[in-house]
Amino acid sequence: MKAVLDHIGIAVKDLAAALAFYRDALGLEIEPPEEVASQQVRAHFVPVGESTLELLEATAPESPIARYVDKRGPGLHHITLRVDDIHAAVAQLKTRGARLIDEQPRPGAEGSLIAFVHPASAHGVLVELKQSPARPSTGSGRASSSDSSLTLSLSKGERADSVQRFSVGDLELISVCDGFFRLDGGAMFGVVPKPLWEKKASADARNRITLAMRPLVVRGVRTMIIDAGIGDKEDAKFCDIYGVDRRRNLDHTLADAGLSPDDIDIVLATHLHFDHAGGFTIRDASGRLRPRFPRAQYVVRRGEWEDAAHLHARNRASYLADNYVPLADAGVLQLVDDDRTIMPGVRVRRTGGHTMHHQMVLIESGGRTAAFAADLMPTTAHAPDAWIMGFDLYPMDTLAAKKQFAAEAIDKNMLVFFPHDPGVAAGYIREQNGKRSIQPAS
Ligand SMILES: [Zn+2]
Ligand SMILES: [Zn+2]
Repeated sequence: MKAVLDHIGIAVKDLAAALAFYRDALGLEIEPPEEVASQQVRAHFVPVGESTLELLEATAPESPIARYVDKRGPGLHHITLRVDDIHAAVAQLKTRGARLIDEQPRPGAEGSLIAFVHPASAHGVLVELKQSPARPSTGSGRASSSDSSLTLSLSKGERADSVQRFSVGDLELISVCDGFFRLDGGAMFGVVPKPLWEKKASADARNRITLAMRPLVVRGVRTMIIDAGIGDKEDAKFCDIYGVDRRRNLDHTLADAGLSPDDIDIVLATHLHFDHAGGFTIRDASGRLRPRFPRAQYVVRRGEWEDAAHLHARNRASYLADNYVPLADAGVLQLVDDDRTIMPGVRVRRTGGHTMHHQMVLIESGGRTAAFAADLMPTTAHAPDAWIMGFDLYPMDTLAAKKQFAAEAIDKNMLVFFPHDPGVAAGYIREQNGKRSIQPAS
């Protein structure tokens, strides 16, 4: 098992005295505290190189930290080791007879999985194992690939979950991000064998690859958002299965773009899969589901809406009614029947393939064209014809639509947005000697 020291937790009785040592005497920087209400504790983070010290302050007399300090005095409370695969780590400890407080990993803060090992097995120290939520590798992972522009990883220094702005004529396009999730690599590339797709996207221990969720904001006469990511309504089990990492999410990136949900006039759906429509609704404090964008009209293709209301075994896992049924209940749903202009410069075009009524969005102004291809070309690795997702319901339709779209995009030098690429928000399709590739837009 490979493990790195994540942090050391120190139980503190007198915070002012602790700060006098760690901050003033040692001269370390203290980050703003974070309150963990469920544990009745306030954590003050002290970064020390790759690891962190956490000064843990009880916020109530019955807090576990208060009881610890009462019993043993202030001091070392726990150490946390970060592991790649916590399920494997727990299994290994069990076979070695270690005593575990958590027999099964459980959800921790910020989408992590954690499990505590009893101090009796760790020579008097409480040991926490932690598996961080899925994140894309940072650059080095597959840098040896011959065509680095197609490698699905973060290029150095660029954060995939940061805001990127583009302009097309009079329209401003802002690529935002609802974080990351993970899907089976085989399913993402259909008939393409693993030795080939693995060069483009490395798989984790569960054979999953990291994907981003990148909705697109279009600002023209009105402000539109195309798709809205996965949202925050799902439980820990779902977030574990799909490796959801929303530490930076749509709220953050909209704010970075100077926008709030109130600014959105139109929400346009390419289709209603949970990684595109999850952010359409939120659960409010009373537990009621309501539209996430309070002023917006939600535009959905009628065929997609009807398919989402009549699910079958092959598509059921991709649709969650809580994401879209509340829109109809709230009276904010507009169904469109055919290819048409949704606001000046923005029109939809059915592609089919991925779902029967999956649509892409074409954005035209000042003689330039951009395309939000949605799941017709989810990542830059899906540029070649045969790289079609196993999820697609009608892959031969995807093939035909992709061929036609790629030719048109090359011809018009379209700026193409990739909704799931963890490293490249947008780029230009190129073709040389029959080989298709993507030139990232800067
Ligand atoms: Zn989809
Ligand atoms: Zn998708």
